[in-house]
Amino acid sequence: MISIPLPWLVFTALIVFLAGIFFVWICYEIARKRQAAKDRKNLIRCHLCAREFFAEKLDSLPQCPYCGSPNEHVAQRLF
Ligand SMILES: [Zn+2]
Repeated sequence: MISIPLPWLVFTALIVFLAGIFFVWICYEIARKRQAAKDRKNLIRCHLCAREFFAEKLDSLPQCPYCGSPNEHVAQRLF
């Protein structure tokens, strides 16, 4: 049988617990960023009035529903 001193047992359990939390956190962030990118895929910001609207990718120049200006599909940057 393996004998481990009590402080090492507590330390090991703490490390395993924190590693689990860190792993779940990283997986959650990856899933959240994928979902946010999927949600932004068809979102277009009008270059004239700066309002945002959804348009299908099939439209080559979707018109803004607020001002009627044609817009291009441009990948939006986060920062
Ligand atoms: Zn507009």
